[in-house]
Amino acid sequence: GITVGVLAVQGAFTEHERMLKRLGAEVFEIRQKQDLQRPFDGLILPGGESTVMGKLMSGLELQEPLKEKIISGLPVFGTCAGMILLAEKISNDEAVYFGTLPVTVRRNAYGRQLGSFHTECRMAHVGRVPMSFIRAPYIEDAGPGTEILARVEGHIVGVRYQNQLAVSFHPEVTDDTGVHAYFLDMIRKSLNNT
Ligand code: GLN
Repeated sequence: GITVGVLAVQGAFTEHERMLKRLGAEVFEIRQKQDLQRPFDGLILPGGESTVMGKLMSGLELQEPLKEKIISGLPVFGTCAGMILLAEKISNDEAVYFGTLPVTVRRNAYGRQLGSFHTECRMAHVGRVPMSFIRAPYIEDAGPGTEILARVEGHIVGVRYQNQLAVSFHPEVTDDTGVHAYFLDMIRKSLNNT
């Protein structure tokens, strides 16, 4: 079977675990450095507060080893704050966390009044997806080699770049397993190629 590590220092990690279990994956939480000794086939970076997750990750010495795994090709899926952690550039913030995904994101891009909203939209490889946005970022610029998977109101809200998948919204809070199923597919294909 497939084993997925879920970064569980802050944010909506439990909801991801529930989704992955529903799809038959083995799941464990990454809370400290020792947790990385266990082998795993994919990594989830959940939504939450990117600044808080970033601080905890570096303080717990998780950031560098996880970054190395992502660079080496470990399939990774970032949602909302998780997308911010992956981004090479944040247009309205100085910080860079993993910086492995060649996109520029804008944090809290929808402003205060549109802080949270729900819509349904087509996503490449997945189909129609219910999308919950919670003080979400969107992608302002995507570098070469990045596949744009979804746009809402003209803004990029889903991308794939090699082993990295990132969405602005929270697929884990809906009942639709489509995006997680696509991620497990990415993992399966990467395992077949090694
Ligand atoms: N606003 C959060 C941030 O900037 C992201 C919100 C979320 O993950 N739901 O990190």
